[in-house]
Amino acid sequence: MWQPYSMTPTKSLIYSRFENPTVMAVEEKIAALEGGIGAMCTSSGQAASLLSLLNILKAGDSFISAATIYGGTINLFAYTLKKLGIECIFVDADASEDEIRAAFKPNTKAVFGETLANPALSVFDIEKFAKIAHENKVPLIIDNTFPTPILCRPFEYGADIVIHSTTKYMDGHAVQGGGVIVDSGNFDWTNGNFPEFTEPDESYHGTIYTKAYGKAAYIVKARMQLMRDFGCYPSAQSAFYLNLGLETLHIRMKQYCENAMKVAEYLEANEHVESVNYPALAGNKYHELAKKYLPDGTSGVISFIIKGGRSTAVKFMDSLKLASNEVHVADIRTCVLHPASATHRQLTDEQLVAAGINGGLIRLSVGLENVDDIIDDLRQAFAAID
Ligand SMILES: *Cc1c(COP(=O)(O)O)cnc(C)c1O
Repeated sequence: MWQPYSMTPTKSLIYSRFENPTVMAVEEKIAALEGGIGAMCTSSGQAASLLSLLNILKAGDSFISAATIYGGTINLFAYTLKKLGIECIFVDADASEDEIRAAFKPNTKAVFGETLANPALSVFDIEKFAKIAHENKVPLIIDNTFPTPILCRPFEYGADIVIHSTTKYMDGHAVQGGGVIVDSGNFDWTNGNFPEFTEPDESYHGTIYTKAYGKAAYIVKARMQLMRDFGCYPSAQSAFYLNLGLETLHIRMKQYCENAMKVAEYLEANEHVESVNYPALAGNKYHELAKKYLPDGTSGVISFIIKGGRSTAVKFMDSLKLASNEVHVADIRTCVLHPASATHRQLTDEQLVAAGINGGLIRLSVGLENVDDIIDDLRQAFAAID
């Protein structure tokens, strides 16, 4: 039986900038779903990524991250953290173990990866990276946003910290933005590499986190030090909405996977489609890793390349009636994004190629509508480009 850890060291709840009973009820629920010892909600997924690292790193430190991660996280890691004196060393997630080992420096304090990368849809080999991180006495942090704990529980493969953008499937209905950090309680912060955990915190009654909070040192420190100071805590109302989403998460995730598999098979057989990227499909580059880490499905997100490039893709997208065109993803409603005319629209065709983005690439986030209706919508949009 999972035992909820008392998430705050204060005897009574003091102040809603870092602890609130409604938010904490949701934190306990997410910790239980992931099999963690405790969790802390944040006001966005970005805030969760940021605090998960700032809890470990300071100016002069470095960390390793897979290069195939969410674009917003790349900006945070490559530019903003750099301005704070924290270096991100990007590695190819598919690199050999020795290549990854070679990326470590004496000041490397963490490793970061995304279970199912947005939007590349590559599957991260959690066990491979956990092993190498632990050889180097540093924790592995996993962004588990797309799978959610329903499809993958990274702690079972050796990850130490999990983060989410709850804005996506966990909320599921696009009613609030949020994030969460979950602590497995498994990492040994007393291994000599992390003095901030083992030496008195002058700002918090001289507390030594590992002594006072044992296995929960990381998540308590994140709250009492960082959330206290940065204050990016969600409101009780946001947590209330998030909880509604969590109550149906196990049913929705199953249905997203079922719908997306049918859509992926339809697209794969379609003459207008050059290629389909969906790891649950046999033949996908990440199919073997998907079978291991995501045996029940690889979420509702698919990407595919339409023949005819940028202009054909635009015509196709404009012809969709059920699917809406938006940047948001992982929602109950089917939505599409065309990078070449949205996130990368300033680029010329030549620049798009240089950036590795095919003008015909479309990201399709399959929702929970009747799958026959979703496929009918795609069919009529393909007919419109003929
Ligand atoms: C959206 C997203 C984020 C950022 O989350 P926000 O809630 O938008 O701040 C981080 N990681 C992944 C995988 C995402 O899809």
